Formats: sequence, structure tokens, C-alpha cells
Amino acid sequence: MSTPPPFNRLALLGMGLIGSSIARAVRKQAAARTIIACSRSAGTRRRVAELGLADQVVESNAAAVAGADLVIICVPVGACGTVAAEIGQHLAPDAIVSDVGSVKATVIKDVSPHIPDAVHFVPAHPVAGTEHSGPDAGFAELFVNRWCILTPPPDTSATAVERLAGFWRLLGANVETMSAEHHDLVLGITSHLPHLIAYTIVGTADELSQVTRSEVLRFSAGGFRDFTRIAASDPTMWRDVFLANKEAVLEMLGRFNEDLSVLTRAIRHGDGGTLFKQFSRTREIRRGIVEIGQDSAAPDFGRPHPDLQPDALPRPYSSDG
Ligand code: NAP
Repeated sequence: MSTPPPFNRLALLGMGLIGSSIARAVRKQAAARTIIACSRSAGTRRRVAELGLADQVVESNAAAVAGADLVIICVPVGACGTVAAEIGQHLAPDAIVSDVGSVKATVIKDVSPHIPDAVHFVPAHPVAGTEHSGPDAGFAELFVNRWCILTPPPDTSATAVERLAGFWRLLGANVETMSAEHHDLVLGITSHLPHLIAYTIVGTADELSQVTRSEVLRFSAGGFRDFTRIAASDPTMWRDVFLANKEAVLEMLGRFNEDLSVLTRAIRHGDGGTLFKQFSRTREIRRGIVEIGQDSAAPDFGRPHPDLQPDALPRPYSSDG
């Protein structure tokens, strides 16, 4: 006899890359008996229905959460508080409410006031993503062998945290728990700052009038191409990330500028030793990342998981939002 799904009724609020990937993975892994999806625009709701990603597609967040034992808010960080205000009064007692936002402290501040005492709020961030958006961009294996970081406030029910951790493990993720503040600092350097650099460098290259746009595109294999992929990430999502994680990003940006000055000086003074030492150090870091399985040296960045069936859906490169 197969084990029953860990959740009965899952409400997904927001059906873009992350919401639709959760829906696909939940279907595949039977992680919930029923999926109710909500998205604000008629176009996205129609597409979710066409793709068969949910058992019901509804127009209002309040209607979506009625009777749900797991609710996951999958909208840009800046919209989480508004969505929480819409659903607060309609949540079932003992339900778990979670989110997938790339910044945690601000989301907790915005969402918590709207969650009734009888409901458990367990914030989460699956550190997995691509530069693509919308329900067509999702795929079931997005979370496989990626981290999902839970940032429960200190008084959160341990049972609720463990239930949500089990849900993410079923979807293929490795689960880690930490404070929201620590999360925001770590992601500030590992994800947010790299995106800011990519947005900057692609813009700078584009503004070089001597180097024509066609040359930038033609010779983009020299490292620039990877930046353009990251810089194609969703503008709304990333605007919200930088507005919400202001302090941590400014702290990391300050350190980055200092280190960049060291390399600038080394280039100016022909100090090859400093350059070689730094590049050797970073090469080791890259090797370490491949060794612990967070990326692959293989060109398709393939991430097969023994417990998930192969999927016909495309597997775009990861950008770990
Ligand atoms: P996405 O593909 O652009 O989808 C965003 C979804 O949110 C869509 O369903 C959209 O609805 C809805 N939405 C947008 N603005 C809204 C608003 N003001 N009010 C209500 N709904 C709104 O984005 P995503 O990549 O799935 O990102 C969703 C969340 O996941 C964000 O918080 C992001 O920080 C987090 N995250 C992203 C990544 C990544 O790499 N992309 C990785 C980890 C976590 P319509 O389509 O109906 O307009």
C-alpha cells in the first residue's frame, strides 16, 4: 500500500517559475492530494489550466486557501505582505503558511502580522531558479539536490517546521534551517551581489558605443555570456530583492568594492603575483562547489535524482535566485 500524501490540500498563490515548478514536483511525488492554484492575471490562470498544473485554478487568494493545510506564497517579495493580508482571515486552523521569497527578514515582517495564532508560518527559500519566468518556465526537477532554507521565527511549532522540511525533501531538496538575518547575509553575497554585478556589467557593455552591440553579442563566449544569462532574470523579482535586502547587500557591496580596488591596483602596477594568487584561490572555490554537488562540470548542468522519474520538460541552467 502506498503512503498517503503528506498534505491534503495545497494552495499555491502565484504560478510563475517557482509556483509552477512546485505544482509539477508535487504532482510527480504525490506530495499533496489536491492542488489549488491562484494567480492575479487571467492569462496566467488560463495557461495554468491548459498545462493541467492544478486541480482547481481560482481568481482570489482568499478562495484558494479555504480548507488548505499547506499554503505557499510564490509571488515577488514586495507583494507577500499584500497577499498575506488577503488570506489571513480565511486560513484553516493548524494550516501551515509558507513562502519562497529570496529575502526572509522583510517577508517575515510583512507577512507575520496577518497570520492568526492558530496557523503556523514557516518561511522558506528554495535556492533554485533560472532566468526564466511564468508557468511555462517551471519544471519538476528544479529543486532536486538544491538547498531549501527554512527560517522559522524562534516560537514556531517544531512539528510544523518538520512537516514542511519533509515536504521539501520529498521534492528532492536538501533542507537547512537558519535565522532570517543570517539567510539574508549569506544570500546577499552568494546570490544578490552576483546578480547586481551581472546587471551592471551587461549594462556597461551595452553603453560602450565604440563596441557595437553586434560585436558584444558575437564575441560573448568570453565569460560575458554567463553574465547575460543572469542579467536576463526577472526585473520585478530582482528589484524587490534589492529593496528588501538593502542592508546586507550594501554591506557586501562595500567589501566587494574594497577587494576590486586591490585588483585594480595590482593591474595598474603590473603586480602579477597578486592577480595569480587571487585567481588560484577562486579556482579552488569553484572546484569545491562542483565537488559538493552544487554544480556540475558537465555542459548540461544535469541534476538527475534517483527518486524522480526522468522528465520530458526542459532543464534550463540554474541561476539560484
Ligand atoms: P515569476 O515567474 O515572475 O512569477 C511571479 C508570480 O507572482 C506570477 O504568478 C505573478 O502573477 C505573481 N505576481 C507578480 N506580482 C504580483 C503582485 N504584485 N501581486 C500578486 N501576485 C503577483 O517569479 P518566480 O521566479 O516564480 O518568483 C516568485 C518568488 O520566488 C519570488 O519571491 C522570488 O524571490 C522567489 N524565488 C525566485 C527564484 C528564481 O530564480 N526565479 C528562486 C528562488 C526563489 P501573474 O503571472 O498572474 O501576473
